[in-house]
Amino acid sequence: MAEAITLRYPTPRARVEAMMEYHPPLGSRDALRLDFNENTLACSPKVCETLASISAGDLTRYPEREPVEAIVAAHLGLQAEQVALTNGVDEAIHVLFETFLEADHELLLPVPTYTMYQVYASATDALLVAVQAADDLQFPFELLARAISPRTKIIAIANPNSPSGSVATRGQLVELAQRAPHAVLLVDEAYFHFHGETVMDLVGAVPNLVVARTFSKAYGLAGLRLGLLAGPAGLMRWIRRVLSPYSVNSLALACLPPALEDTAYLDWYVAEVLAARRDFEAALDAAGVRRWPSRANFILADIGAKHAEFVRLMRGRGVLVRDRSSDPGCDGRVRITIGTREQMKQAIAALNETLAALRSGSEAQ
Ligand code: PMP
Repeated sequence: MAEAITLRYPTPRARVEAMMEYHPPLGSRDALRLDFNENTLACSPKVCETLASISAGDLTRYPEREPVEAIVAAHLGLQAEQVALTNGVDEAIHVLFETFLEADHELLLPVPTYTMYQVYASATDALLVAVQAADDLQFPFELLARAISPRTKIIAIANPNSPSGSVATRGQLVELAQRAPHAVLLVDEAYFHFHGETVMDLVGAVPNLVVARTFSKAYGLAGLRLGLLAGPAGLMRWIRRVLSPYSVNSLALACLPPALEDTAYLDWYVAEVLAARRDFEAALDAAGVRRWPSRANFILADIGAKHAEFVRLMRGRGVLVRDRSSDPGCDGRVRITIGTREQMKQAIAALNETLAALRSGSEAQ
């Protein structure tokens, strides 16, 4: 007779046991996707043509990233050694933190900001030092500069920031880099195209500056998982040691050159979003909803105590939006991605109906 076996699993590192869990609220997104700051429409048709031309034989090969890194570097005005492609910016953040953070180090962050900085930091032995932005959610430059210590090893700044849409100036970023020469300053330019300002041109000149970009937003390639880190060759060599040589797959690598080349498509999409952002801002203002100025493809709106119901009712009207209430200092706030003008007409109609329903209490549960 078989003995009863008690299953005992090996334990992970203590850090992992204590690690913060993050489950993106995806699931049944068959609606207008204004919840994840994606491109809400499509990528360039040139990218689709490239995908269609990939053969079964092509898929048998390991991906070769170097030639594509050289193309991206040239596009950004950088040397190939200064650029590493990654499996989305999420991998870039993970690898950067694994490369630089250890016990007694501090990761310095303004909050609220992008959640994954905290998630990946919690897998390391470093201490998180979070600097809370004021109610206006502007970049808390002074407080951040004062929080720099000899233990600060990475300062991570999303520029534009999420979920606020606020920005740091070039002068502020350079000053932070200079005031913490012993630390890496990560400037995450995931939403660069909607803002138009960058510090990419300072890569190499500022010895501790590393810039991240993604192809998940304006380029519309979130499903392919494609991002990059750019920094001085002397820093990138350590990052490359930690980065898997094959983490960017061959489909993503094949699609990157046509995505970069089709500037007409990118410019069209960005202009569309900027026009739609103005329309949506006007709608929020007309409805008397407080909002924060945004330089990205989303807007943070103050819905108040009924935020969860707002999100549910918007979903009922076919529009997905993201409750950011649990972000530090964001109680009652909802983030709404901006799509095309046509899509935002639907969003504005849903917004007005939902606000009316909430105000009259007619659809309350
Ligand atoms: N940085 C910021 C500021 C983001 O908002 C996001 C996307 N949510 C990312 C990075 C992640 O981008 P990717 O899809 O390239 O991993």
